[in-house]
Parts: sequence; structure tokens; C-alpha cells
Amino acid sequence: MNEPLLKPLNDDNVNLRASVLLPYPLAGAYDYRIDEPLPRGALVVAPLGTRDSLGVVWGEADGTISHERVKRAEPLAGSPRLPESLCDFIDWTAKYTLTPPGLVLAMALRVRDAFEPERPRIGYARGEITPARMTGARRRVLALAEDSLARSIASFAEEANVTPAVVRGLIEAGGLKEVELPEYLPLACPDPGFAPAELNAEQEQAARELRARVAANEFSVTLLDGVTGSGKTETYFEAVAEALRQNRQVLILLPEIALTVQFLDRFADRFGCRPAEWHSDLGPKERRRVWRAVLSGEARVVVGARSALFLPFASLGLVIVDEEHEQAYKQEEGVIYHARDMAVVRSRIETCAIVLASATPSLETYSNAANGRYHRLKLPRRHGAAVMPEIRLIDLRTTRAEPGTWLSQPLREALAVTLGSGEQAMLFLNRRGYAPLTLCEACGHKMICRQCSAWLVEHRYHRKLACHHCGFEMPAPLACPECKAEKTLVACGPGVERVAEEFAGIFPDARVAIASSDTLHGPLETQAAIRAMAKRDTDVLIGTQIVAKGHHFPQLTLVGVIDADLGGSDGDLRARERTFQLLHQVAGRAGRAEKPGLVLIQTRNPDDVVMRALAGGDRDAFYAQEIAARKRVAAPPFGRLAGIILSSHDGEAVRETGRTLARAAPAAHGVKVWGPTPAFYQLLRGRTRERLLVQAERSVDVQAYLRAWLTRVKIPHAVRLTVDIDPVSFF
Ligand code: ADP
Ligand code: ZN
Repeated sequence: MNEPLLKPLNDDNVNLRASVLLPYPLAGAYDYRIDEPLPRGALVVAPLGTRDSLGVVWGEADGTISHERVKRAEPLAGSPRLPESLCDFIDWTAKYTLTPPGLVLAMALRVRDAFEPERPRIGYARGEITPARMTGARRRVLALAEDSLARSIASFAEEANVTPAVVRGLIEAGGLKEVELPEYLPLACPDPGFAPAELNAEQEQAARELRARVAANEFSVTLLDGVTGSGKTETYFEAVAEALRQNRQVLILLPEIALTVQFLDRFADRFGCRPAEWHSDLGPKERRRVWRAVLSGEARVVVGARSALFLPFASLGLVIVDEEHEQAYKQEEGVIYHARDMAVVRSRIETCAIVLASATPSLETYSNAANGRYHRLKLPRRHGAAVMPEIRLIDLRTTRAEPGTWLSQPLREALAVTLGSGEQAMLFLNRRGYAPLTLCEACGHKMICRQCSAWLVEHRYHRKLACHHCGFEMPAPLACPECKAEKTLVACGPGVERVAEEFAGIFPDARVAIASSDTLHGPLETQAAIRAMAKRDTDVLIGTQIVAKGHHFPQLTLVGVIDADLGGSDGDLRARERTFQLLHQVAGRAGRAEKPGLVLIQTRNPDDVVMRALAGGDRDAFYAQEIAARKRVAAPPFGRLAGIILSSHDGEAVRETGRTLARAAPAAHGVKVWGPTPAFYQLLRGRTRERLLVQAERSVDVQAYLRAWLTRVKIPHAVRLTVDIDPVSFF
């Protein structure tokens, strides 16, 4: 709709008004006076309190503000405008997540001075005049300027080995003249025909269907269901190429920034240049550049983390969600949304194709494909000579490791064989640091975070105890803070650092690296560890879930899972699914090239459904069983869930609010409300937390139910209420 939406309130066209949405958590859009009709999406500067704010024309004014009080909004220079589809998407997301629309808009506008006109940088090049007074220094500068490249004063001074004053003197004398430097080189344009892979028959069949769906210019959802190493990336690259040929833009979502480095190189191999990137580590200049290029259509392909979903695409033709089952797609703070689900919504609004790729789809996506709501394309085999790895369980009940050690004898032997033949291995343990618990042997005191009801994790290398929830750190104490006894604090259980220590004791000559997403080891360290593994500078990579995802190490033939039972017993509805996905992904790192892979899984529950499915390689049987189990209890995707989390520094206030809220819950058919109960982490960052859970039949409009409920209760200022629609975490 390009028609201006706004009509004059008065006959004399002087008092035009628009409803303007501001990027703040306000109740809705506000009326402003405007001088000329503006379409939805138009960016304006609007006074808010004593400040000016950026705002977006959202629709027709509702006329509730009196004539005298309505303020004036001015269009931005150059009349930039958010695409209407993005405005619709923001509205949709706000409504679905029960978030003020201004907060969602704030995510879309998270670019500092994106709308300032490009500030040209000034450089200098050879001028027309040759100054009368010449010195050796001046001659060197002018000789340098003969190449007619523009340089800054500083680089002239450095390259010609003169002082900046000499350069300035030459500018005054006309020997150098001012020129404008373009701020950026234009973005390179990916070439769909640059280096297409030779696809195998199954890949080609899938690629053909994907190309057709992109070319159809219709909304469609396709699950690209391929085993690890089957070439899902190569295959969906053909869909990307088709969108490029159609002159439309592509968004590729990845779950982790750590995955992007390898991915960008792969993309460049296929398309001749790197795509645009979007994630939280981007500097302000780069953010602004990419944001503008997405809006203008210059950025053809964007690879990014979940926040890229709110970029202002001018003409989106395809969305890819890689590793679609990943929990990292759920944003748990601020606007709480699931990027995979919202990506499907955005594709529907943009009328384009979306591809969800995974070897272990989420149960939601899997059943949508099974019931025909989504298309499904299968890649059942690894590409080329590679075969699926052999998976063996090691029963820790019968094959005991020595007390205080974590590598069983069969795993040690397998490591020796792998290292002996010059191949690589990976050890997986989903626990950061050295040990998850520090305990006093004398009095039993546990080292717990003062702000969170969570154990402090020992990081021996940094000699620290750290809370992984709030970031609190303290030096590892020498004496027990409770009974004051010295040398009685002992580390309980393993973290990756402890496994690395044990490994190094057995294999002193092997090159080991640790990769864990950690506040102490930053993302750069993780990337370095992964790169070293890819370059074969590392023999054994020991890591947390960060090593499970997407990586391709051709020489990696042995994967050891240190403790498969972690996270399996915490009783939440997705625990089994998550364990299966994680371990399947980890296992999928082994034997991805010519040499076959072996996976050893250490467990105390070898008869568990998940362990049997992994060892038997029967994924679909596992899904069938899991779907049946969820159906029986009407759990998602067969029913709906919404979490309500209350938190406060005032413990009594939060409990009282929980009780009041529960009493006010409207009775409705097909809706059950559970709680309030203390959250799993009762104390987090100093705030006491209570949870309520709404369980509803699929046909229930949960959002409407929640809106009706929440308007009945006044939440005290000291208490924060958060709604989590479709929760994936129950902490
Ligand atoms: P997946 O994402 O399904 O785990 P990838 O797309 O990472 O698999 O592919 C695994 C490996 O196989 C990669 O190194 C990839 O380059 C290679 N590969 C897959 N398909 C082809 C192909 N048709 N031609 C050449 N190499 C391929
Ligand atoms: Zn803490």
C-alpha cells in the first residue's frame, strides 16, 4: 500500500495528524501533527518529553489528543521509510509475544545514527600547483602524491617520513588539494554462477525443488531434513542462487556467532564474495552500513544471528534457518521470542520461501512436516565416500573410571589408537570450567553465589570461582568461608578444564585445546580453538556444546561424550529431545570425510530411550515415541504453553503478587493455570523469582486469555512480570 494512510482531521488540510510509534516501551503509538501526508513506515523526528526521538508513522491518528496539546513531528531528511512489511511484522511480533510494539520497533532501529547523511571523509591528493619553495621533505610528499590516490594527512606524513606540518604546508601552498573519500567501498555482489558445487543426485533433486519454491514467489516452508554431513549447506546455496537471480534478498540465520567464520568462507567459495554480516559483535559503523544497505537493497545476502530478523529488507525472497532446532534461537531477555518461529511469520508476511535445515529437527517442525503443513526434503546419506559414524555406549555402571577421573578405559584406548594414526579427536562435556561444585570436606559447606541460587563454578586456570548466571567472580578461597578450616575445599565433578587436565596427564605429547562459551574464555578464544582444529594444529578439542554445532573437521574420527546423562533428568518437557539433538549433533562431527568415525558415549543409563535411539541410529523411532508421549499429555506442539515469571528484590512482594495473580486467573475452557511456584533458580542476580504456567488446548487464543487476565491485576512497581510464550526453558 503506497497510498498515504492519513486523512486530515479538519477540512482545511492544515491540521494533518499521524499516529507515530516511538522505540520505547510505551503503551502504543501517539498522535503527532504533520505538515504533509506521510505513509506508514515513514521515519520522523518527534518530540517526547524534553527530547527529540526517532519515530515511525504507524497509521491513522486516533484524535484522542486535544488540538492544543498535539506536538509536531518532522520527516527525516531524504524521507527514509521502513518497508511496510517490516511494520506489519513488528505489529505481529508485539501481539504474539505480548510486548509493547515500541520495544519491538527498538530492535528494528538498533543502529546509532543510521539516518544521518553519510559524512564524507576528507583526504588529500596532488593539487594543480607546484609550490615555489621546495624542500626534500616536500618533494617526497609530492612524489608520493603522483599516484593520485587520496590519503589522510597522517598517512602522507608516515609514508613520506615527514612531519604532519610539512603536509599541511603543502596543502596551504596548493601542492595538495582536498578530495572526498567515499566512506565505504560498495558491498560486493554475490554471483550465483560463481562456483556451483556438483551436486549428487539426492542433493540435485532437493535443490531443484527449492529453486522452484523460490521462483514461485510464494510463501512456503520447507524442512531440509538431512543427516549430518549430507551437504545441506551446498543444497540450500542453490536456493540462495535462485533468489539472487530473481533479484531478491536472502537472510541466512545461524544460531551462534562462533559458527559464522567458517560459514562466511564457505559462502565466498561458492558466490565469489562474503555476504553482509549482522550480529551483536558488529561495530557501530559496520552496523549502520549494513542496516542501510539492507534497506536500499544493496545488501543481497545477510548472514546473521536472530536479531537479523528485524532488518529492513527491501525485497526479501528467501529465508534460511540453519540448525533450526537450536535453542539459541530463543531470545530469553527483553522481547522474548523464538527466531525460528518468527522467521516463518516474517516469510509469510513477505510472501517468500523459508527453509528450515537440520539433522535433528525440533519436534514442532518435525510434526509440521509429518502432517503436511511444511514440505519436507530428505538427504538421507552423507556426501561422497563418508558414512555415518559407528556409535557405541560405554556403560559406566560396569566400566568404572577410577574415582576422580572421567575417561573410561575403552575411551582411553580409542584415543590412543586415533592419536597414534595421526587423526583428530573431540571430547564433549556440556560443563564449563574445572568443576561445577566446590565443597568443604570438613563442614559440608557449598560455595554458592550470593545473588543466585546456583553453585559457583571453579575455573582453575584463572584461579577463580564464577557464577555462570550473573557473572559474579571471586578468587578461589584457601580456607572454607564457613568453618575457616584450611585446605578442606575440594572440587566435585568435572568441567571441560578438568577433563583436559586428566587427558594431558595420559597423553602429555598431544596438542589439546578447550572451546567453551564462557565469560572467562571469550568468543575470540573459542574461534581460535576452532580454527586451530580445522588447520590440524590441534589433536584433541575438548569442549562444551559450542563444539557440537555445524563444524566440519575432515580428520576428526573419534568423538567421546564424557557424561551423556547431564541434563537428561531435569524433568522438563524438552529434556529428552534436547539431549538427543545435542548428542546426535556431537556424534555427527565424527568421520565426515573419507575415514570412518567412531563415537563413544559414556552413560549410566544405557537403557534409556535416548541412549538406545542414539546407539541404534533410529532417529525416526525416537521422534515417533516422543511425539506420542507429548500427545498423551497435550504438551507442545499438541497444546500451548505460556510462562509467567515474576521477579523482585523484595521476596515477599514477589510471592504475594504470585498469589494475587493466581487468584485472578479467569476460568476458561481448555485452560489450566499452574503455580505460583519458586523458579528452579529461585534467586537470580539478586532477584527472587516465582513462576506460573498456563497450559492450554491448541484451539485456545492464549494471548487473548493472558491479556484479559493481566489487566485484572495491578502489578506493584517493585515486581517485574515477564511473559514467555512457547517457553523452551523452565528455569
Ligand atoms: P551438513 O550441513 O548437511 O552437515 P555440509 O553442507 O556441511 O553438511 O557438507 C559436509 C561436507 O561435504 C562439506 O565439506 C561440504 O563441502 C561437502 N559437500 C557436500 N556436498 C558436496 C558436493 N555436492 N560437492 C562437494 N562437496 C560437498
Ligand atoms: Zn550469580
